[in-house]
Amino acid sequence: MPTDIEIAQAATLRKILPLAQERLGLPGDELVPYGHYKAKLSLAALRRLEKLPQRGKLVLVTAITPTPPGEGKTTTTVGLGDGLNRIGANTIICLREPSLGPCFGMKGGAAGGGHAQVVPMEDINLHFTGDFHAIALANNLLAAMIDNHIHHGNVLGLDVRRISWRRVVDMNDRALRLITAGLGGPGNGYPREDGFDIVVASEVMAILCLADSLADLKRRLGQIVVGYTADKKPVTARELQADGAMAALLRDAIQPNLVQTLEGNPAFVHGGPFANIAHGCNSVMATRTALRLADYVVTEAGFGADLGAEKFIDIKCRKSGLRPSCAVVVATIRALKHHGQGAPDGLEALRLGLPNLERHVHNVQQHYRLPAIVSINRFDSDTPEEIALVQAACERLGVRCVLSSHWAQGGAGAEALARAVVQACEGEAPALGLLYQDADGLAHKLQAVATRIYGAEDIDFEPAAFRQLEEITALGHGHLPVCIAKTQYSFSSDPKRLGAPQGHRLRVRELRLHAGAEFVTAICGDIMTMPGLPKSPAAERIGLDDGGRIHGLF
Ligand code: ADP
Ligand code: MG
Repeated sequence: MPTDIEIAQAATLRKILPLAQERLGLPGDELVPYGHYKAKLSLAALRRLEKLPQRGKLVLVTAITPTPPGEGKTTTTVGLGDGLNRIGANTIICLREPSLGPCFGMKGGAAGGGHAQVVPMEDINLHFTGDFHAIALANNLLAAMIDNHIHHGNVLGLDVRRISWRRVVDMNDRALRLITAGLGGPGNGYPREDGFDIVVASEVMAILCLADSLADLKRRLGQIVVGYTADKKPVTARELQADGAMAALLRDAIQPNLVQTLEGNPAFVHGGPFANIAHGCNSVMATRTALRLADYVVTEAGFGADLGAEKFIDIKCRKSGLRPSCAVVVATIRALKHHGQGAPDGLEALRLGLPNLERHVHNVQQHYRLPAIVSINRFDSDTPEEIALVQAACERLGVRCVLSSHWAQGGAGAEALARAVVQACEGEAPALGLLYQDADGLAHKLQAVATRIYGAEDIDFEPAAFRQLEEITALGHGHLPVCIAKTQYSFSSDPKRLGAPQGHRLRVRELRLHAGAEFVTAICGDIMTMPGLPKSPAAERIGLDDGGRIHGLF
């Protein structure tokens, strides 16, 4: 089997403008082409489409607790989209844009895999249409204006020890987690402790993904709290007069990007918050637009159903009114065996790993109240006995289980999954299974997610986090939803606790108010908002040949 990039480079792509016209009825002047194979939907197109009903059925692709290489959610999202189009269901795929962090780190690209990819994959995985650069710049403009404001007299009275706004870069760079900025004397401003997050954790990224219009984008940017005065009064981006320029920097980035799958089906790839340290799903504007243009929209939420799917429901759907019709839970035999680690033989490990799948399915059905379909993402190494074991477990759970081979066969390998999805989407979309109400306190909200979704016994606040909880509530933000930042490798906040752990407690280290994104992030366990590179990063194997062809992106 050739690698992902070899398959992608061998494909014949259609020009994006005729594809948009033919498949979406979008005239060329409603698109802003970025070369031949990528385009943005113009603001005028978005305005016109806003008047159309969101007629499509929304399908959420989520997964069991992943292993480091990923379990194939993006691959399944693309394969399912191609499968649906093959059986005659008019479908658009909605994905997040990949971050350069994992691309050069451990996981590699995020444009799908095998014969289920969005293309051009090198562009999508690297600079794409520049959205992440724009988001980073908007974020860092605000940072520069904060330090500049202090340098020029600090009229707003920002306490340099209480600045919460951090700088960002789209790279895994642990050396930047904590830095001292402003060294070198009076000409260089006031020294202060600062640090970098990865772009996908930036509040600007969350704002871009949750905003439902340009007006909403501007409103949210203005609301960003950058820090506090000595008497703990919040200072906003609006008070620094940074919001206008930030919005200007984001004018193009807010327009959804259109690309195609290997099979020539339309895909919106837009926005890219991680699901462990941020809210984990693509932009509201892309999803809504897709629902106006297609009968089915397949979208992925990051990592396991404890993270991406929970935030998809409790943050993205709560605010936007989006309502999924069903959820596909991607499982791989490889990952289930990993969760049954320690067992001497493969089948026994698989059996011991099944509770992980069972808990995720239970959560999707009982808590998110969505019809669920388990999709086994088939690997060449899977044996018939192993597949039968997972199928039998699903039968006991009363959940439909479909074996899918889109990675090897493209849309043809996902037709059975596509048919199961069409069936699950029949009738009205179910009422949204929110885990908590806006009026519940922040601690209650965190507890609801931890106990009901993670299976935790309870939560514990470190003293600093408890203080922040009280301060954020006193400032009147207790009604916001919570965005839990924790490891993606376990239901608990300890990456080593595999399977379906019980009796654990969620340790909340820090609370961060994101008044612009309109959620409160709870940092739990040892999770970092700036990842590091592994000992042998993927970057060591990526290169460019003399003819200009990129290799090693996988
Ligand atoms: P996720 O979205 O869950 O993080 P991806 O869809 O990005 O996962 O897939 C992760 C990697 O695994 C990709 O490199 C992809 O090519 C590979 N992969 C996915 N499904 C399969 C499969 N069935 N067989 C072999 N490799 C696969
Ligand atoms: Mg993915």
